[in-house]
Amino acid sequence: MFRPGKREHIAVVGAGVAGLVAALECAMRGAEVEVLERAPILGARACSWLAGGMLAPWCERESAEPAVMERGQLALEWWPRHFPDTVQRGTLVVAPPRDESEIARFARRTQAHVAVDALGIAGLEPDLAGRFQRGLFFPREAHLDPRRALAALAGALEDLGVVLRFSVEADPQALVADTVLDCRGFAARETLPGLRGVRGEMVIVRAPGVTLSRPVRFLHPRFPLYIVPRAGAHFMIGATMIESEHPGPPTVRSAMELLNAAFTLHPAFGEAEIVELDADLRPAFPDNLPRLTRQGRVLSLNGLFRHGFLLSPALAREAADLILPRKEVRYDLDHQW
Ligand SMILES: Cc1cc2nc3c(=O)[nH]c(=O)nc-3n(C[C@H](O)[C@H](O)[C@H](O)COP(=O)(O)OP(=O)(O)OC[C@H]3O[C@@H](n4cnc5c(N)ncnc54)[C@H](O)[C@@H]3O)c2cc1C
Repeated sequence: MFRPGKREHIAVVGAGVAGLVAALECAMRGAEVEVLERAPILGARACSWLAGGMLAPWCERESAEPAVMERGQLALEWWPRHFPDTVQRGTLVVAPPRDESEIARFARRTQAHVAVDALGIAGLEPDLAGRFQRGLFFPREAHLDPRRALAALAGALEDLGVVLRFSVEADPQALVADTVLDCRGFAARETLPGLRGVRGEMVIVRAPGVTLSRPVRFLHPRFPLYIVPRAGAHFMIGATMIESEHPGPPTVRSAMELLNAAFTLHPAFGEAEIVELDADLRPAFPDNLPRLTRQGRVLSLNGLFRHGFLLSPALAREAADLILPRKEVRYDLDHQW
């Protein structure tokens, strides 16, 4: 319960993107915050470590509810403020000539894009010159390197006096604090009915022969994929979306599909070195929208699905509004989007 004059003590369980963004939002409002993480180092057991880092509210509308597009726009202002290396150069969407109808379908389902022809594509990404005739450009979208962004948040928290305790496997219901923010991702499935894992596999390659300056989505009826450029000629190629909670490493089929699609986007990916091949489970509710769920002092932030970086600023702000109101106090229970 919020009491004016007293510093709220908030324990955050989980140092993935949900936990770190929520911790920062609460610490900036003056709360006394600590973060408990079961892994020995940042990211070691977090789905957030594998994310592409796309902040793409309009592209995501292709397969997501309007709420994702609306609330996701906050990320475009939040991340550059807290992680200045956020890159705001938009998203380019292309399709191979035989699948150009996919472009029209994608355009119908999304907003805030402009159509680009071969010349426009070459102007945006010279390395793709002559390879695609039609595409869509979403100029307002952005991307970031999730690992560097998480490290920056951890640093910002430490600057605010927040203690991050690693190698602590915490039970949110047993913790002593005014409020516990349960941000355990998929590990919270036993206490959150309906939470499921959606498997995502990804590859990181080093391809000095390719230059891209923004995420490129490659529409393909069977293997839609995206490639996100990172520093040092690294590219994250993602991601499968499989309704499976199998926690194992990527399958040969998935690796082939991801790498084949990258090779089709640009043959120079054929010479790339595979740096990392990994898989994790995205935490998702049946409607694929995130939820705040309250059980006593424990407020859980979960179900970020494929939108952890996109939606955590909005979700964290709503959580902070519930426990540390700035203007009006709202105590909705089981707040749903
Ligand atoms: C391949 C792939 C690509 C993706 N690409 C994007 C993208 O481009 N853009 C985007 O917005 N989203 C993307 N996502 C989705 C995003 O990664 C997830 O939505 C997000 O990581 C979920 O964050 P989280 O903090 O809820 O969970 P996690 O990142 O899993 O964090 C949970 C943390 O809680 C810790 N924990 C669990 N139990 C305990 C306990 N008992 N005590 C202490 N700590 C505990 C875990 O160790 C972990 O560190 C992608 C996901 C995948 C798999």
